[in-house]
Order: sequence, then C-alpha cells, then structure tokens
Amino acid sequence: MGFFRKIGNAFVRFMYGRNGMDQMNLALIWVCLIVDVVAMFAGKASAVAGTILYYAGIILWIWAIFRMLSKNLYKRREENSKYLALTWKIKNSGSGARARHADKDHKYFTCKNCKTICRVPVGKGKIEITCPKCGAKIQGKT
Ligand SMILES: [Zn+2]
Repeated sequence: MGFFRKIGNAFVRFMYGRNGMDQMNLALIWVCLIVDVVAMFAGKASAVAGTILYYAGIILWIWAIFRMLSKNLYKRREENSKYLALTWKIKNSGSGARARHADKDHKYFTCKNCKTICRVPVGKGKIEITCPKCGAKIQGKT
C-alpha cells in the first residue's frame, strides 16, 4: 500500500461516524474567509476592529471544524436542515416574486385571511376565488 493511500485510509477511518462537510459548514467556511479578509483591511483602519474580527474569524473556524469532526450526527443534521430551510426561504422569496412578475398568463391574489397566494388565469374578467387553504372568498379582476 502506498504512503498516500495509507494516509487516505487513516483519514477515512478518522472521519468515520463524523459529520464531515455539509452545506452549513461550507457556508461557515466562506464566512470565515470573508471575515479574515475584512479583518485584514479593518486592521489597517482600526487595530481594535481588526483584532475583534480576527478573533471572530477564529471562533468561526473552530465552529466549522467542530461541526466537521462532531460525532453528534443527529444534532448536526438538525442544524444543517435549519440552515437549509433558512437559505431556501431567502432564495425563494426573491425568485418567487420574480417568477410571479414574469408570469403574464396568470394573476396572483393573496388571501387576506391566511396569506396563501392563489394563481388565476388571466382574461376571466371579474371573478370570485375561493382560497384553497381556508375557503375564504377573494374578489378580483383578471
Ligand atoms: Zn386563505
């Protein structure tokens, strides 16, 4: 067995049962890198700000490494899914609004009762929509 193969196997053994890399860790590492760069520039302007950011960066690195090596997979997966749900919400609120704006064949009504968005084809004139979620009536012109 070659030297690198041996190291590789040892690494695989070491990482076995550990969380490893997930989407949240990838994001954490990006934030770490950004904080490190910002700390470098901030340090030139203010030594205190630079130091604070420097330590904040170290804490984030430790957090990322801790999550990577953690054996509490249940807890880490829960954190990761929370992170994904949050980013999905942020991404979706932007792209969802854009998609609705681009859609010329439908009109969108927001239910006043439960805030559900109802999609209706354009060109039906004045109509009454029944909210599919709560059954409230919405009047609209398409
Ligand atoms: Zn409703």
